[in-house]
Amino acid sequence: MSLAVGVDIGGTKTAIGIIDHAGKILSHTKIPTDQGIVPAEMIDRIIASIKVLLTDNGLQESDITGIGVGAPGPLDVKNGLISCPPNLPQWVDIPVVHQFNQQFSVPVWLANDASAAAVAEKWIGAGTSANDFAYMTISTGIGAGFILNGELYTGARGNAGDIGHMAVDTRVEGTCDCGQKGCFEYVASGTAIARLGTELMGKPLSSIDVFALYNEGDPDITSMVQEVFERIGMGCVTLINTLEPEFIVIGGGVSNVGEALFEAVNDYVSKYALSPLGRETRVVPSKLENNTGLIGAAALVWQNTGKL
Ligand SMILES: [Zn+2]
Repeated sequence: MSLAVGVDIGGTKTAIGIIDHAGKILSHTKIPTDQGIVPAEMIDRIIASIKVLLTDNGLQESDITGIGVGAPGPLDVKNGLISCPPNLPQWVDIPVVHQFNQQFSVPVWLANDASAAAVAEKWIGAGTSANDFAYMTISTGIGAGFILNGELYTGARGNAGDIGHMAVDTRVEGTCDCGQKGCFEYVASGTAIARLGTELMGKPLSSIDVFALYNEGDPDITSMVQEVFERIGMGCVTLINTLEPEFIVIGGGVSNVGEALFEAVNDYVSKYALSPLGRETRVVPSKLENNTGLIGAAALVWQNTGKL
């Protein structure tokens, strides 16, 4: 049986799992991503958790084909570094692959978490039949992964897909963390929806609260959310005009709002994508609601060993 270890490093928690070649998670665990310790110590904790997970499942390192690590970007994939993710402020040029290599003899691969998720969708999700598609995650931030010509497109150093920082609506008050105005994630992420709802209603609201008010038909919230859906449509049109994907898959917490989002975004695409055929591009939900990051991290192993 072929097995891979997947590690999905997030800003608050890190998921670790043993995944088989059919995409089944045989065993998994989660540990907090402790931002109060230095990254090298946190990576040691991750490594220790992998070893415990293997032992608990009666496995040895020789039973696994490799280890895939998904992490928030920016990264330097060529050199195995986590460069400077905004939600992991201490993690500046951290040689995560090198540290794993000192503890394991199997190969280790690093990729941007949205890229890993795209690989998971290609493997066992919404993209199994496609050679060209884009995966977009809309949650705290916005990111994308691209499968082009059947392969993950990473860019020169692994940072292709940072679409959260393409400007889509500079009319929105305020400035993104990156310094630009109107960034996609500044105007359409879950964080943005919570911020815009809070400003509108004059009381603290989460994105879940905002969608509850939307479902109740609150008129102010409804028009704000429709504007957000329109901006997501703009993001999709830009991807369609740039890459000509067969379709776009959207995952992440905001996609759980469901039909209303997909209807609005598909409507926008059908009007504004440039080419007539581009206007027929469908925007569809992820098929891997849970554990996409973890499955994607493991999928990096199969992808890089030519078994995908
Ligand atoms: Zn930005």
